[in-house]
Formats: sequence, C-alpha cells, structure tokens
Amino acid sequence: MLSAPLTGAAQNTATRTATTDAPVQYSIQFPNAVHHEAQVVATFQKVPAGRPLQVRMARSSPGRYALHEFAKNVYNVRATDGQGKPLPIHRPDPYGWDVTPGPDGTVRFSYTLYGDRTDGTYAGIDAQHAHLNIPATFAYARGLEQRPVYVNFEQLPADWKVATQLLEVNENGQKVSGRYFAPHLQYFMDSPTSLGAQKLRAWQVNGQQIEMQVLHAGSDADLDRYADLTKNVVREAQAVFGELPTFDFGRYTFVANYLPQASGDGMEHRNSTSVTSSRPLGGPNMLDNLGTVSHEFVHSWNVERIRPNDLEPFDFDRANMSDMLWFAEGFTQYYGELLLRRSGAYTTDAQYCQEALNGFVNSMQVPGAQRYGAIYMSQQAPFVDAAKSIDPTNRGNNFQSYYYVGGANALALDLMLRQRFRTDLDTYMRAVWQQQGKPQKNHAPERPYAVADLQRILGEVSKDTAFAGQFFRQHIYNATAHDYAALLAPAGIVVRQAKPNEPTLDAAFANGRWAITTNTVIGSPLYQAGLDRDDELLKLDGKALKDEKSLPAILKKHKVGDTVPLEYRSRGQVRTVQVVLAADPRLEVTPAEQAGQQPTPEQLAFRKAWLGSKTQQ
Ligand SMILES: [Zn+2]
Repeated sequence: MLSAPLTGAAQNTATRTATTDAPVQYSIQFPNAVHHEAQVVATFQKVPAGRPLQVRMARSSPGRYALHEFAKNVYNVRATDGQGKPLPIHRPDPYGWDVTPGPDGTVRFSYTLYGDRTDGTYAGIDAQHAHLNIPATFAYARGLEQRPVYVNFEQLPADWKVATQLLEVNENGQKVSGRYFAPHLQYFMDSPTSLGAQKLRAWQVNGQQIEMQVLHAGSDADLDRYADLTKNVVREAQAVFGELPTFDFGRYTFVANYLPQASGDGMEHRNSTSVTSSRPLGGPNMLDNLGTVSHEFVHSWNVERIRPNDLEPFDFDRANMSDMLWFAEGFTQYYGELLLRRSGAYTTDAQYCQEALNGFVNSMQVPGAQRYGAIYMSQQAPFVDAAKSIDPTNRGNNFQSYYYVGGANALALDLMLRQRFRTDLDTYMRAVWQQQGKPQKNHAPERPYAVADLQRILGEVSKDTAFAGQFFRQHIYNATAHDYAALLAPAGIVVRQAKPNEPTLDAAFANGRWAITTNTVIGSPLYQAGLDRDDELLKLDGKALKDEKSLPAILKKHKVGDTVPLEYRSRGQVRTVQVVLAADPRLEVTPAEQAGQQPTPEQLAFRKAWLGSKTQQ
C-alpha cells in the first residue's frame, strides 16, 4: 500500500480544525537544489490588524537541545500583501522580521533557504533529495500557532516522492497530491519530510501501518533484510509497553536517508522518526543503523507521549532545558540496545555485553558520573548537544552524557527490580506509559510528567516507596555509584578490570611528539602530577620520547604503582615531576562462560528472562 488509509477520525480532525481559522499556507520549491537552495513562501491571512506580524525562524529544535539559530541560512527576505504590494519589514533581533500588514490582512513572506546537512536537525538539499527538519526550513508567525497548516511541495523532480507524518489532504479532507496538512504549528514543526525517490516497505500491526520510506543506494535485498530486522524490533518494543501508541493518523513512518552525504543521526517525532546515516544498509555497520531505528521507535512512547513537562510545549524561541533527559534519552538508550538482543539482531549474549553493557558500565567510571547526578547531566544538554562555541570546557571531569548515565541507571534499576522485587523495568515502563503517556489530546501529550511522577510510579511498581525514594535520592539527584559486578552476577555476567596489570598514560602521539590532547582526568597519574591539556611529554624514566613506539616501550618495563620521573613542557616551561603509574581503569563486561566460569542454571534462567525474546515464548 502506498499510503495510509485515511480513517474517519483523521478526516474529521482535518476538516474540523481547518474551518476554525485561516490556515497558514506554505509552499517550497527547489529550483537551485544543486547549490542547496530552496525557495519558500509562507502566507498568513486574516492576520490581527493594528500591529506588526512577528515572523520568526526557530532558534531551537525538539530533541537537539542547543541553540541552532536557523535564521542564519535565510536570505532574500521579502514581504508583500495579497496583491504583491511590498510591506515594510523591521528587524527586531537576529531571528525575526516584524511585518506591518496592509488593509487586506494578508502577509506573504518569502525567502531563500540554504541547507546542506542531511540529519534530524537541519535541512539537506541537493539534486538527489531534500531532507527537511521543519524548524530549520519554515518561518512561523507568533500568535498564529494554533492555526492549521498546509504545505505544498511544488515542482519536484518526477521521481521524488514525499515521506512524512503530515497528512496528504486539502482543506476539505480530500487527498490532493503534493498538499499536506498539520493540525497546528507544534505538529507541523514535529514533521520532518524527505523528498526523493524513497522506497517503501510497509506492514500492518493491529490496524495501524508501520512503514519505512527509505532513500538509499543499496539493493532491494538489503532493504528487505533491514525491514525484516526492523519488524522484529517493533514487535519486541510493543511487548515492552504492552501495545503500540495510537498513531495520530493510523501510521508510523521511518523517514530514512542512508546516503553518502547524510550525517549519522536519529530524531524522534510523534508518528515518525528521521534516521540518517552514511553507512549503507548492506555494509558491516548496518547494525548501527538498526540501533538508531530501535532507539527512535522506543521514543514513540518515551519522550513523544511519555513527555517531560519541561519540554511541553516546546519553545522554539529559546534553548529548552529538561531535568528528565536521563529518562527520556537514557532509558530509551537502554531499551534501544536491549531490543536488539531480544529481537535477535545481536545474536549472542557476548555481543550484547560487548556492544551495550560495556558502554553503560564504563560510562559510570568517569569523574563526571561519579560527582554529579542524572538530573544535573540532563540540564547540560543545551551546552553539549550539537552546541558550538570555541572556549574549552572541563567536560572530561564534570560531565557524562545523559544517554549513558540514564542507560546505566536503567540497567541497574532493571536488575534491582528483578532481584529484589520480583518485577522488572518492562513492568515499570508499562506503568509509566499507562499513567503519563497514554492520555493524549489534540495531537499532544495530555499528562506530561515530572521527576516526582517517575519516583511515585517506581514506589507503586516495587511496592516499596522507601526504595523508590532512596533510588532517586542516591542515583538521580546525586551520583552514588552502582556495584555493577554484584548487580550482574545473578545473570552470570562478569565485570572486571580489562587490563589490571598494564600501566597507561593518557597521551597521544601526533606531529612527531607525545602530547596531552584533552583535559587530564581527576585521579589519573598525569592529573595527580600536575599536567594538563597541551603539555608535551619529553622524557619518561630518563629516556627521550622521540617516536610513536617509545612511550609504550617504557611503560611496558614498569609495573602498576611504580614511581617514575617525567620531564615535560608546559606553556613554554620545562619541568620534571614524579608520576605514580596506574592501570587502565576500563572495565570489561563478559558472560561468565567467556571468562572461564560455568554459569549456573539459575543464572542462565535469570539471563533468559531478561535478555530473551518477549514475543516468542
Ligand atoms: Zn533519543
């Protein structure tokens, strides 16, 4: 089937909202696609009289938390009335145009858009395709956010099709080729659109359509295999939450661009996701693409409908900070990986340990994760998530990604619930879904949650409010360490230091010298000895560090705990200090059977209940 059947409910929504207000109309064309330009026209009718219409480009975009200032790629701006008569424009700030409307109440606002980044946040336009994140593409008018939106994708090359969660209908609820509807601005902004020769794979789940609209350079067989793996992931995700969300128009779309010019990314939306990568579907890294698909599909529950209350509604005029990204992103990250194992995409427990558990467990070893809690990490997102400024930061010592901190806490909580409370994280996620996620209204979350809601529901599911209080106090508000070796032991999984007997120093060889390229890490031998970023190591143990082999060769002659002299240059000064050598702190996580141990039947049963398929029992 080429497009979703338009259900009665969807038709009613389209016609009802369309008649209440003059809709905002957009058109976009690509006459200069090879040079990454689009021509955009936004038409606002029946605008309020007596004051300027405040037209804005978004400064931010849901799910990518830094400021992006999309106005930087907008130029040739013009405004006219309905008859083409120019209207005065005033620039109040770098992202805005205040247009004084004429007597006919129509403002026709046009501009050229430049975009050459194919990912979930920006616009990527070329001769082959256009991948549009809506906040990066279309200007909006303040005060008209509740009006319905129609957009025309015009004069597209003959083989280009439209992949989007927007509904292909006109004002009368009739399907009209190239004309798309959103019930309001928030939904429109949430609807990334890929224009190109996408290939479709679609299937039905309980009366709803799941579809993959894939623009890629590989074979149909690659895509078929990928769609089969995705089907299994979708099934396992549904089993976690007990049901699929009710998608607004009966359809969920993976808007996928696997092209050489794409940047690796996944961005969640209500009824779709934008997944982009330069990794082909037929290549050895296909599983990384599937990991993004898995993560993003979990978001259709967790973040799109189970919604942090500090992100709802999203404010496009500023950076949006959330206390809850450790849950919204971190728990999603945990499930993204777990679903790959349950669906069989990771074929062995050892592969799951290597690809997923290693990362979560090691992420908590860094100073940032040991100093500050999950909420603090979430609040840093506007500074770390695609944020660009040029002064150095101390992230190596005061930060760890909320994806990992959250994922590592999800892992610990799942294991605690299984060991101590005869329940599991799936049950918890279902409870959060039923209470905070399932209620939706006007294509938006009706009951966005606070951190306190998550704690309350944990108390209900564990039937132990003291435990829930302690877990949140220790691990979410603060940064008390988990004992992963003890937590994973009942699953017959071993956590141990990867290289306990090999001394290491955090320096890199480049341009003929050994230098420290990042901030030294609190507690490390170089930090303790007073060295820092950009310092150059000259001699260790009296021997010159003249080539790439010299440092490893000297370290090999020493044991962990040895004290050796180190000569180095720091900001023009040469000094010698004593360094106490330490082992590489990294841990490895492996199934017991790979660590020379024999797991017990109880351990294997525990592991199967956790990592085994929930759809083939
Ligand atoms: Zn995510």
